[in-house]
Amino acid sequence: MKVLIEGIKPAFAGELRRIMVSEVPTMAIEWVDFHANDSVLWDEIVAHRLGLIPLTFDPKFFNFKDECQCEGKGCTRCQVAFALKKTGPCMVYSGDLKTTDDRVKPVFDKIPIVELMEGQELELEAFAELGLGKNHAKWQAAVVGYKQEDDKFTFNIESVCGLKAEQIFSQALQVLTEKTNDFIKDVERLK
Ligand SMILES: [Zn+2]
Repeated sequence: MKVLIEGIKPAFAGELRRIMVSEVPTMAIEWVDFHANDSVLWDEIVAHRLGLIPLTFDPKFFNFKDECQCEGKGCTRCQVAFALKKTGPCMVYSGDLKTTDDRVKPVFDKIPIVELMEGQELELEAFAELGLGKNHAKWQAAVVGYKQEDDKFTFNIESVCGLKAEQIFSQALQVLTEKTNDFIKDVERLK
């Protein structure tokens, strides 16, 4: 998505860009329990690859795990489980992850995870949760750049998660508003 904003300062443009990249919550796999892994890749590498798969989700429904009513134990409002079971010979794809919540599934079904040879097994449970790009790149919402001409800024916003670029832009404005309100409250407390 391209957005033209006029009459703002470079600091505002920079902050807006940073928030779109690293402070808009997205969903990604954070925990993996391996029951079998005979593939050539270590558990850690498979888990890392699973973490980088962009997932669809409803941003209004899910809470951060540590801010959820379940107090971080994990419930349907803060965590989504997936199951995967494959036996080779085959390529394991993102679409082989079976979700327990239809709102949360891979954006693309044909992302290769690992190839299994004859008789090799991969069986695991994976758990996705909300997170921020500033904590791990797997939760990065978008790739954003902008060009400045006079007082005009043209933003180029490319989504790399399960949200549309428009959603990322409007959520970033909300985050910026919340941060500004918090700052105002902090300053008022000093009086
Ligand atoms: Zn919860």
